[in-house]
Amino acid sequence: MVAPRLRSRSLVKKRKTTPGGRRVVHYRKKPSAYARCAGCRRTLLGVPRKDVKKLTRSQRTPSRPYGGNLCSRCMRRVLKEKIRGQ
Ligand SMILES: [Zn+2]
Repeated sequence: MVAPRLRSRSLVKKRKTTPGGRRVVHYRKKPSAYARCAGCRRTLLGVPRKDVKKLTRSQRTPSRPYGGNLCSRCMRRVLKEKIRGQ
């Protein structure tokens, strides 16, 4: 039986053969889910699934208003509504 911390379903199991010919299982963390638009729930492009702390600031989210929260179409709609005062 593997260690309790490795029984998590958030881990991906990968079978490997070592240089010595032994069959072992390597455990890796699954990438997080795709970021979704808060308005229409579509997948946001340009937002990485991996650990953002290892990336530079410009690689984390699109650098526009509501970048990483709304898709470009919903952002345009929200901005127009704000300007028109609806
Ligand atoms: Zn949207």
